[in-house]
Amino acid sequence: MYETQCPQCKAAMIRDEYEGVEIERCEKCGGLWITQPNLTMIIRRRIERFTPEVIAQARKMVRERKMPDTESARLLLCPDCGKKLPAFLYNYSSGIVLNRCAQGHGVFLDPGELELVQAHTELLEAAMDGLFTTYVENPAAVFDSPAKAENIALTPAEREAAADWRETPPSVKERFLSWLDKLLD
Ligand SMILES: [Zn+2]
Ligand SMILES: [Zn+2]
Repeated sequence: MYETQCPQCKAAMIRDEYEGVEIERCEKCGGLWITQPNLTMIIRRRIERFTPEVIAQARKMVRERKMPDTESARLLLCPDCGKKLPAFLYNYSSGIVLNRCAQGHGVFLDPGELELVQAHTELLEAAMDGLFTTYVENPAAVFDSPAKAENIALTPAEREAAADWRETPPSVKERFLSWLDKLLD
């Protein structure tokens, strides 16, 4: 039977499940090997309520972090093609460093990193919720000049209806995104 070799310690990995998705787990070092589609599936279950535009905006909001040198220097090899697994910053700004095969065979995660990735996703969700509340209640509050928020503020009727930005009509979402753009300017 074909066995995946752990990129880190070369032990045979065992097949396992994480939230119903197939992963490989190393019993020796605790590392995980997950195919890119399966990792995406695990993450997407948490973020499917968000549009790509909103996620892109949220990404821009967190300051860019630097890749630690130790992570770039680390040598991990893909169990499928034997090539080096380059380190990359998950979601650019999360500060979580993962290693991914450039040929698309999979992603290697150290113990606890999958949970970190999910926590980061939840933080993004909470941040978006908080921003939407600010936008609905007082969009001018975050600007030094109230004029900046003038054309994107909600009408009283819209404000009444906008309890949750996911439930709001596309026109309101669009204005929320323009407001975010001005905020990030
Ligand atoms: Zn291992
Ligand atoms: Zn590979």
